[in-house]
Amino acid sequence: MKGAIKLFKVAGISINIHVTFLLLLLLFATMGFRWLFLIIAIFFFVTLHELAHSLVAKKFGIQVKEITLLPIGGVASMTKMPDKPYQEFLISLAGPALNIAIVVIFFLPLYALLGKQVLFHPLSVKSFPHVIAHIYWINLILAVFNLIPAFPMDGGRLLRALLAQKMGYQKATRIAVNFGHIFALIFGYIGLVHGHIILIVIAVFIYMAASSEELQVDIRETLKRFSIKDIISHQFLTLGKDATLAKVLELVFHSHQEDFAITEDGKMLGFVTRHDIINGIHQHGTSAEISSIMRKDIPVLRESDSLDKAQNIMQENSIKALPVIRGGKIIGIVTIEDVTRVYSMMAQRK
Ligand SMILES: [Zn+2]
Repeated sequence: MKGAIKLFKVAGISINIHVTFLLLLLLFATMGFRWLFLIIAIFFFVTLHELAHSLVAKKFGIQVKEITLLPIGGVASMTKMPDKPYQEFLISLAGPALNIAIVVIFFLPLYALLGKQVLFHPLSVKSFPHVIAHIYWINLILAVFNLIPAFPMDGGRLLRALLAQKMGYQKATRIAVNFGHIFALIFGYIGLVHGHIILIVIAVFIYMAASSEELQVDIRETLKRFSIKDIISHQFLTLGKDATLAKVLELVFHSHQEDFAITEDGKMLGFVTRHDIINGIHQHGTSAEISSIMRKDIPVLRESDSLDKAQNIMQENSIKALPVIRGGKIIGIVTIEDVTRVYSMMAQRK
């Protein structure tokens, strides 16, 4: 994510902090140590919440590259969506379940330590025990807020996953999205009536997130209906391993092709994308040979792969084009633009 600073890694997931969140920390720091401690503790539990989602996702083979802390909360970037509704259900449940577990586990110890008076009247930071009580209850708020059945909250995903057991994924999404829109309108109404700006902002955010979720699912469902062989073009150029970057650049200008396989006797030795070519020229100049910058192990596509799968592989590997292989030989190249074009054509037909 842009503007994010890497803090450390947990279980292979890098925990990042966004610069806007740093500004928030500075603001709280000026309000005193207790406030600063409070906000850091809140984000510690937000991070734990996101880690719970991420670790369950990893169990289902979904890579989580990073968790970014923003002033509005944490975001775990997953490279793909879960395949099965029960996987989405468990991944979504993990975050709120962790917060609820914390609330349950720490209730008696804190009751004994802080006393009833402080534990149940935490809404001040006048003493350190009050701060602790405040942080404790934040876990309950995190759980309850995230269980609201509206995207992008976990509750929206839980609702969709439950509905998807009984009906198609697209229909389940549409109903969950409608729920999200209704919640957004209710929040917006309350916000307007009571003059709560933050509630209005949340309402707009929820409304847009619900619409965006519907679009994402529409795209995926459309892409699932097509396979590589529906879009592959068999006209493509390949490069010999001693081609210079100057030669490659010339080919790009003449052919409109921007991603190339490097082959020898029909066998693929490597692959370069537009991005690799530009970077290569930048770092090594135009006289360098293509073999010095090519990617050697690169995932490949087959004609039977769905466009949804192709898009997932590209996203997971942060690459915008891939070779298509049949019987060990390259038979074409598919780019992310080829894939998205299919969706925009189908969307226009609706
Ligand atoms: Zn969550």
